[in-house]
Amino acid sequence: MITLALSKGRIFEETLPMLAAAGIEVTEDPEKSRKLILATSQPGVRVVLVRASDVPTYVQWGGADLGVTGFDTLLEHGSAGLYLPLDLKIAACRMSVAARADFDYASAVRQGARLKVATKFVGIARDFFATKGVHVDLIKLYGSMELAPLTGLADAIVDIVSTGNTLRANHLVEVEPIMDISARLVVNQAALKLKREPIRRIIDAFAATVSASQPSEAATPAASQ
Ligand code: AMP
Repeated sequence: MITLALSKGRIFEETLPMLAAAGIEVTEDPEKSRKLILATSQPGVRVVLVRASDVPTYVQWGGADLGVTGFDTLLEHGSAGLYLPLDLKIAACRMSVAARADFDYASAVRQGARLKVATKFVGIARDFFATKGVHVDLIKLYGSMELAPLTGLADAIVDIVSTGNTLRANHLVEVEPIMDISARLVVNQAALKLKREPIRRIIDAFAATVSASQPSEAATPAASQ
């Protein structure tokens, strides 16, 4: 049996076409059922639905053989014991610093002020500000980070930005991008040895879907000049 860990929502939806390329169809709709283990068209393959931040844990400890998770989650969790064969280029977004429009972030950084930064992504934020040489007090939150600068809890937040609508709706502005984020395929290293053939087939099908969805280099204007 091959067990694939996915989280509901964007990761699940965007992984379906990759599974289809491997000849695997999920036969149950997670939005219509409360089941946490979903059968597929292949009797030897099942999908388990877990919280996004739990995907690396399931794969690391063998609760799942492989999984799909955001690069942000992976950086926070660490990738010990995990094989990371593919950037799936799905669920794309970026990690950024955001603050109230009336907070002069650039001056605060230039003047060496000690910033209060609220975030769920403490590891990413710590590394980013350490590399910049900016002193920060990090405040760990588990959700609704946008509230922190609005209530005076923090000067800035480190959060995921996709369309920017959430920041705009809360009168915040993106003041500095940190990194681009997309989802990765993660594989349990022991499972890769013990179940090499079926896991390789899935990795290869996912890889083929990723390359098919990327514009070919020859087609880009820069390359054709
Ligand atoms: P947006 O309003 O489109 O900028 O989306 C921002 C919010 O949506 C963030 O606070 C995240 O919680 C969530 N979000 C958007 N895209 C992703 C993603 N790819 N992975 C995880 N969370 C995301």
